[in-house]
Amino acid sequence: MNTNLAHDWEMHCHSHASDGVLSPQALYDQALSAGLSHLVLTDHDTAAGYRALHEGGELSEQLRLWPGAELSSLWLSRNIHIVGIGMDVFSDAWLDVERRYVHAREQRFERLMFVLRRAGLDISEADIRAEAGDALPGRPHVARFLVKSGQAKDSAQAFKRWLGTGKVGDVKQGWPPLEQAVADIRACGGKAVLAHPHRYKLTWRKLDQLLDDFQQAGGEAVEVCCPAMQPPMRQRLVERCIERDLLIGGGSDFHQPDTPWARLGWYPQWPSQGKRLVDALLG
Ligand code: AMP
Ligand code: MN
Ligand code: MN
Ligand code: MN
Repeated sequence: MNTNLAHDWEMHCHSHASDGVLSPQALYDQALSAGLSHLVLTDHDTAAGYRALHEGGELSEQLRLWPGAELSSLWLSRNIHIVGIGMDVFSDAWLDVERRYVHAREQRFERLMFVLRRAGLDISEADIRAEAGDALPGRPHVARFLVKSGQAKDSAQAFKRWLGTGKVGDVKQGWPPLEQAVADIRACGGKAVLAHPHRYKLTWRKLDQLLDDFQQAGGEAVEVCCPAMQPPMRQRLVERCIERDLLIGGGSDFHQPDTPWARLGWYPQWPSQGKRLVDALLG
């Protein structure tokens, strides 16, 4: 059963400033024609797309654009994503955060190329940089190149064989601790949101520990309404958020058009209980 529905907020999506396919302007235009009224652009580790749109984009009164980013971090050796919404992404403090991520991604990229070549893949740094364009290189760019060069059937297979959690290309080196990512977002005036908790494959015991550590660090909201999360998990997460007074967030995690499970603004309905992140953002 598809429980996703069209919201007027999108709080988690990617442009080609990171690993999405659309340009920031094309993404904005698509959100506008889908009838959204708020769009938070949350590229991985950068708000360059927001800055470009803010400075030279064609924006409409109908669709408010919010600054955001999805920061990579580490928690108990796991790669955890923290979405930040509402930071001052023109500030020196934020630009410094981005510089640290550029460095981390470049270091990781070198290591990634090394381990993938050692695993027998025919891949060069130039191939992946060409695939990434202006974005910092990430695993999805590697996956796309492997598909184009006939070394993988599709991106899903590339992740399953080489790039996904626990595989050779799962290089986590260099990401800051979760506490740092949350602190960086808050120091720049944003709200920190724990991204897609169902993707980490944690037991409830571990997930509770993650929620505790995240909240302790200053995290304020959790993505509860995610397209691929099973309803029983969503229900339990809603309860956890209410108990802890965490805000309820969500989003599609849109990366490209024509992916049936991730359309802009499509994710499960807000639960009837709990405090919503959207209300807190509108203050
Ligand atoms: P990176 O930023 O290099 O760590 O790559 C993480 C990104 O890879 C995520 O944001 C997703 O866009 C993508 N990704 C992760 N797992 C998968 C998967 N199993 N299949 C396809 N894409 C994935
Ligand atoms: Mn991504
Ligand atoms: Mn993510
Ligand atoms: Mn994402």
